[in-house]
Amino acid sequence: MVEKKIFMNKLTIVIPAFNEQEVLKTTLVTLLQIEDDLISESKIAEDSNILVVDDGSKDNTWEILRELNSENYRFTGIKFSRNFGHQDALVAGMSEAIETSDMIVTIDADLQDNPNVIKIMVDRFNEGNEVVYGVRNNREQDTWFKRTTAQGYYRILNILGVKVVPNHADFRLMSKRAVETLLEYKERNLFLRGIIPMLGYKSVKVYYKRTPRLAGESKYPLKKMLAFAWDGITSLTIAPVRAILILGILFSLFGMIAFVYSVIVKLIGKANEGWSSLMISIWIIGGFQMISLGVIGEYIGKVTTEVKHRPRYTIEERIGK
Ligand code: UDP
Ligand code: MG
Repeated sequence: MVEKKIFMNKLTIVIPAFNEQEVLKTTLVTLLQIEDDLISESKIAEDSNILVVDDGSKDNTWEILRELNSENYRFTGIKFSRNFGHQDALVAGMSEAIETSDMIVTIDADLQDNPNVIKIMVDRFNEGNEVVYGVRNNREQDTWFKRTTAQGYYRILNILGVKVVPNHADFRLMSKRAVETLLEYKERNLFLRGIIPMLGYKSVKVYYKRTPRLAGESKYPLKKMLAFAWDGITSLTIAPVRAILILGILFSLFGMIAFVYSVIVKLIGKANEGWSSLMISIWIIGGFQMISLGVIGEYIGKVTTEVKHRPRYTIEERIGK
């Protein structure tokens, strides 16, 4: 009897990790189990693997991975020469993975995103979707501050015309082809959440509950989060600069009207005294000009970064390749 060989898609789970020694082992073992389940259900290829991107960790993240790799070849990794940031780690992991894989899942190292959802993602992929977004349907785990700022941020992005999937972080599945298209976007400042919806292709959302971090602390302090949020806006839209232009025109119009008004008042004969209003105007307009320069400076800064064409990241070492 001739055995019928069924072609199975290979899955790689990509995990960005920055000082994650407290959680890495548990996370990797859990994820391998998920893959094993999928393999036994004949949904993914037997050589499906896990790829950790060590984003310049200073702790034992890399050593833990080396140990796990000696136990199972399906644990692999790349290590950056320094900390390049979460987004670049994701890009590096995905571009490594598509060399051999047909679908790539990205998930954080702290297992805040329910790993069982990966099984649903694979089903959606097999139904013909090329991008599967993990969307959380609860935010109770976040502080009031994070929740409110996140909501406000989505609203601002929306007003500015940037399309993102609300409550979706970087937990998603992408097909090899979708990742290849993503890598055609050559900008250094990559805000994945804004760019991936631009790729097109058939996509779908799956909903899940987000849980607290397994252990360790957030690698996204407020400062980093604000920088990330601002990058998201300025790398995807020039609306802030346009808004400044429009505001500038409005201010000038207002100035002209005020000028005409004061001339008329003078001609009628009433003295136009009003030092305080004058001073306030100067402060407001001065402040407005400084903000404008700041925003424009930000864009010029971005242009400078982009024209340098520096590498997004540097890989120093590999495990399992
Ligand atoms: N991370 C990274 N580089 C960084 C910061 C974070 O690779 O510079 C990784 C981190 O190890 C984790 C993921 O990005 O796997 C998300 O970070 P974290 O869970 O700390 O963020 P939060 O969930 O608190 O927003
Ligand atoms: Mg987290």
